[in-house]
Amino acid sequence: MIELKQIVKKFGEHTVLDHVDVTFAEGSVTALIGPSGGGKSTLLRCINLLEIPTSGSLRIGEESLEFHPGGKAGWKAVQKLRRQTGMVFQNFQLFPHRNAMDNVAESLITVLKWPKDRAHQRARELLEKVGLGHKADAWPSTLSGGQQQRVAIARALAPSPKVLLCDEPTSALDPELASEVVEVLAQLAREGTTMVIATHDLRLASTIAQEAVFLEVGVIVEKGPSRELFTAPQRQRTQRFISTLL
Ligand code: ATP
Ligand code: MG
Repeated sequence: MIELKQIVKKFGEHTVLDHVDVTFAEGSVTALIGPSGGGKSTLLRCINLLEIPTSGSLRIGEESLEFHPGGKAGWKAVQKLRRQTGMVFQNFQLFPHRNAMDNVAESLITVLKWPKDRAHQRARELLEKVGLGHKADAWPSTLSGGQQQRVAIARALAPSPKVLLCDEPTSALDPELASEVVEVLAQLAREGTTMVIATHDLRLASTIAQEAVFLEVGVIVEKGPSRELFTAPQRQRTQRFISTLL
């Protein structure tokens, strides 16, 4: 389980996350929706500690950390918690000078100190899982956007994170390429991968996510089963937002 308690994130005087309380159950898939600038990316970045929260606490499985204004989170504790997460970005962010296989194997070799053979074996399995077993030697620049994003998903999954965080995983892609990424995410969802997916794409959200969280100006306005939240939102602000997406 992933549990955020009273998470605040400020950039200078600007409060971007305002006492966010939310839990994500093991095996659940949650769509994080809300207007631009609402704090979706920041929330994901606070879960994988690319951003250190200003205050509050974060627990992922057995690992947890508390944050205090002005306090310094210890580097080792941050690394330990960060390793429980995998992140997929809108614009893939593959290492351009590594082939697909090495992109996936990289963290296993450099961070987890796996022997190369074992890391490459795992990378091969993951590339096959995302339908790219035949592209192990390909450079990112020779792959389509959809293929690059599938390599990025395989890379994020390599260290077996407790949660896969996806920040607008399809929004840089044409519909056709987006749908091959959606298919991979749907397959992971069926296998019980815990995921939190920030997206503007209601089709993606309703295909994959059972849960939804609506975040606006750093506050969770509404959360619940995605079907209910998308079709019969309780709060007026959620209704207004959903209607702009339809
Ligand atoms: P979008 O739908 O456009 O991706 P979002 O919901 O992901 O938006 P965030 O990117 O989390 O929103 O941004 C929330 C707020 O935090 C915005 O006002 C943004 O300007 C601000 N912000 C994000 N990152 C930083 C940063 N590194 N420094 C200062 N302000 C930031
Ligand atoms: Mg964002």
